[in-house]
Amino acid sequence: MDTLVRPDTYEIAALSAECGVDAVKYSREKGKPAFALTRPPGHHAGPDYGMGFCYFNNISIAAEHLLNTGDQSIAIVDFDVHHGNGTEDVFGNRADVLYISTHQAGIFPGTGSVDFLGNDDGKGFTINIPLPSGCGDSTFHSAYSKVITPIVRQFRPDAILVSFGVDGHYRDPLASLSLSSNGHLAMAKELLLLSKECGNRITFFLEGGYDVPALSEVVAATVGEFIGVEVPLEFTDITDKHCLGRSAVERCSKNASEYWSL
Ligand SMILES: [Zn+2]
Repeated sequence: MDTLVRPDTYEIAALSAECGVDAVKYSREKGKPAFALTRPPGHHAGPDYGMGFCYFNNISIAAEHLLNTGDQSIAIVDFDVHHGNGTEDVFGNRADVLYISTHQAGIFPGTGSVDFLGNDDGKGFTINIPLPSGCGDSTFHSAYSKVITPIVRQFRPDAILVSFGVDGHYRDPLASLSLSSNGHLAMAKELLLLSKECGNRITFFLEGGYDVPALSEVVAATVGEFIGVEVPLEFTDITDKHCLGRSAVERCSKNASEYWSL
């Protein structure tokens, strides 16, 4: 329905996946952050299906490339407003890839329950933080400080890959979280800081984001951060002042604390 196939779709989707592989190779070779400005996006595509504008799971293909060429462990952090069901499907039963997703609860694709923490050997290596509509900067700050940062640090990945969606922005027409541009940049900065513990090996992958001005300034500010250039931000309204998602974050933390020290 929303993932049309045209004569050149295969070639374009393959180029997008290849861009991700090139980006992680660059990051590994140079010890620097990279940003794969890919379209189409990837995190809804599973091992044998496409959906939600995604054909190939760019971030999973890049993670698999790293694992097949010497790396032992990869952390994938996904802050697109939608759950990355495809990525979870690819790695949900494995312990070599940690997958952590923050997403709006109850919207497309309907997966990403806080009670799913992985299957078989992968138990504890999938962390889902579904959040009620309206959650924004203070809720995400809490999710990073209480759950995401401590778990990534304990996992000690060889590299961090980020599903970078900007559809959790308050301007986005497809969903109803309330992150500001500053809130997005704060997450990018936190992940860049974490990546100093793994040789600056971090690669951002563009996923969703349907308000182009917000998408543009958040991506530009993140890339600016790589090279120490501050990009002025326009969309900085703060609506979630009192941590609307506090109980959702606490519930996730309680579940995850069976596997991680939180
Ligand atoms: Zn999305």
